Amino acid sequence: MDASRALLLARLELRRAVDLLFFFPRAYEQPAPRTSDEHFQENLRVSFTGTVIDISEKVTQSGKHMFGLLLRTDGGGNVRLMWFNQMFRRNMYRRDERLVATGILRSTGLNWEMIQPQTNPADEQQVDADRPLPVYSLTEGLKQSAMRAIMKQYLPPLIEEIDEALPEAMRSRLEIPGVHQALHDIHFPATEGLASAAQRRFKLQELLVLQLALSMQRQQRERSSQAPVCEPSGKIHSRILNRLPHTLTPDQQTSIDEIRQDMARPIPMNRLLQGDVGSGKTLVAQYAMLLCVANEHQATLMAPTEVLARQHYANLQKSLSHSRVRIGLLVGTLSKKERNSLLELMAAGEVDVVVGTQALLSEDVQFKRLGLVIVDEQHKFGVLQRARLRHDNLQPHNLILSATPIPRTIAMTAFGDLDVSTIRTKPPGRAPVHTYLAKVDQLESWWKFVDKQIEQGRQAYVIAPRVAQTAVDEEDESSVGTKLIASAEGAFSELRQGPFAHRRIGMLHGRLDSEMKESVLAQFANGELDILVSTTVVEVGIDVPNATVITILDANRLGLSQLHQLRGRISRGSFPGYACAVASDGCDATDNDRLKAFEHSNDGFELAEMDLKLRGPGDLLGTSQSGLPAMRIANIVEDAELLEIARKEAREILQNDPELADPDLSKLVNQTLKRYGKSLQLGDVG
Ligand code: ADP
Ligand code: MG
Repeated sequence: MDASRALLLARLELRRAVDLLFFFPRAYEQPAPRTSDEHFQENLRVSFTGTVIDISEKVTQSGKHMFGLLLRTDGGGNVRLMWFNQMFRRNMYRRDERLVATGILRSTGLNWEMIQPQTNPADEQQVDADRPLPVYSLTEGLKQSAMRAIMKQYLPPLIEEIDEALPEAMRSRLEIPGVHQALHDIHFPATEGLASAAQRRFKLQELLVLQLALSMQRQQRERSSQAPVCEPSGKIHSRILNRLPHTLTPDQQTSIDEIRQDMARPIPMNRLLQGDVGSGKTLVAQYAMLLCVANEHQATLMAPTEVLARQHYANLQKSLSHSRVRIGLLVGTLSKKERNSLLELMAAGEVDVVVGTQALLSEDVQFKRLGLVIVDEQHKFGVLQRARLRHDNLQPHNLILSATPIPRTIAMTAFGDLDVSTIRTKPPGRAPVHTYLAKVDQLESWWKFVDKQIEQGRQAYVIAPRVAQTAVDEEDESSVGTKLIASAEGAFSELRQGPFAHRRIGMLHGRLDSEMKESVLAQFANGELDILVSTTVVEVGIDVPNATVITILDANRLGLSQLHQLRGRISRGSFPGYACAVASDGCDATDNDRLKAFEHSNDGFELAEMDLKLRGPGDLLGTSQSGLPAMRIANIVEDAELLEIARKEAREILQNDPELADPDLSKLVNQTLKRYGKSLQLGDVG
């Protein structure tokens, strides 16, 4: 291969011959149906065979170089082929040569013509006439036909050198072709069916490697660490239940059962408790903490903001006012003295439950015997931060609370070593939430409705995506010039001067210092403000049951899950809630998939699945969240079914052969370690 070509390939990360083998086509092109003249139609994409009868060149009025071929078709008609600014074609064709041309037919009235068609010598094309053509990703300077030619030239001898990584029994169970056949069929398929069978094999293999890695990680964690055994006696169980302010819902009950089973083992629990906003996760968390305390260990609950931490603290104090459980609050705003005395109590084991913020993660924070770490609304914390509370001889049990429902496919990958408990049904007695979509020009009457709610003693949120007003250039040429995205500052001053001049309005956004933020939130929570204008920072966990209306400006700019989280702010009390999603000027809310879904469903799980389909797994599986290398051929959303199969397979492998000693598996295990050993810190298992 010449050096310039090698350089082009290197741009695609193709450096070694074997890289080429695993550089799979991103799609296949069905050859256009071979057609003869009588079936020619305007705008039809066809292939036809013809003979070159004239070659011409000229410079067009606009100064472009035009290269033309006149082909006499086998049916006796003429078709003119034209290319612009492709000087290299000059030396490509001879008169009387037979070609197969593929392109879109245009009629000039008298003749047919094709602009920028593809051509191949007729005899060469003959062989491949009906085969799907692989479509590879390219880089500038490298053409599809060149790429195909490279593959044809180099791959066949290489294929034979690749070793099979999947044991025969597995291949026949999963009905997948062997590696040689699959490599051949993915690059040079004789039919589409063979191509997709080959793709299925490599997708399954990739997902299997991922799932095996996650299962190994889980096995390693379970083996290496000791956690306190928290066995609940019947007496402890009923004592705890008596402390809780409500009778458990069936889903809370199930989640608690799962947690009890986990915590009764000497293996650290690693569980995600997911439930929509307001589904009652806190109660389950309280149970777990009390179970831990009853077993003479300390528990800690970490919240993403100080407001939330204080909220949890106050709730716990209420529930535990007549018990011996000692509760501490560790937040950033404690005085040095308060902080030091709390730290002393914690280190001495003289406080049982500590509620706090990230302040819990400081170096000097020590527990005497930490048995349980609960992280609320975990998506606001980095994975690494979570990890820091883990390192000790005795590992605490871990429980993560999330109100962002995690679609099953994501739970199986990014959070692969987590067990998941789910609260689907909310506690009874919730008033309904009504959702409306509106246009900007309907706002005036909407504000009147909001004002009536305030008149009745309720409170309202107004959400704007940005802090300050900025003009944004729309990519879409059809929209006129620039648009304003609603900002908290803009909405704040507009509402204060206009429709809500007579109301108490506060503003909240990320640029305020944290003291200011806390105080605005506290004012709103205490009913000292009627309206809180805010960016999406209120998304997480704020509980003001008296707030019943939320207006989301430029709602079409927010993700579905985010919209739903925001709506969650007003479904917390016994009053009915009202959410209004206002589309930006120029966006038709009724024609927006996301907004329509938001209007029609109030089920966070359903919306999360939909969001995943609409947006792809990008932000959920971003490296910041999962730290895993990207998938090459599989797509965890589209290939959810294969993911499930792979997971089952991986778990069975480890169950039947915990040491991974079976020599038939050694290739697969090596592949797994090579790919995920670092990111998942897999030691030398197997
Ligand atoms: P989230 O899952 O969003 O954290 P919370 O735990 O804050 O939800 O619960 C929301 C509201 O539901 C709280 O006011 C809580 O007291 C109430 N609640 C929780 N569990 C029950 C229950 N089993 N029966 C009645 N109300 C409940
Ligand atoms: Mg909560």
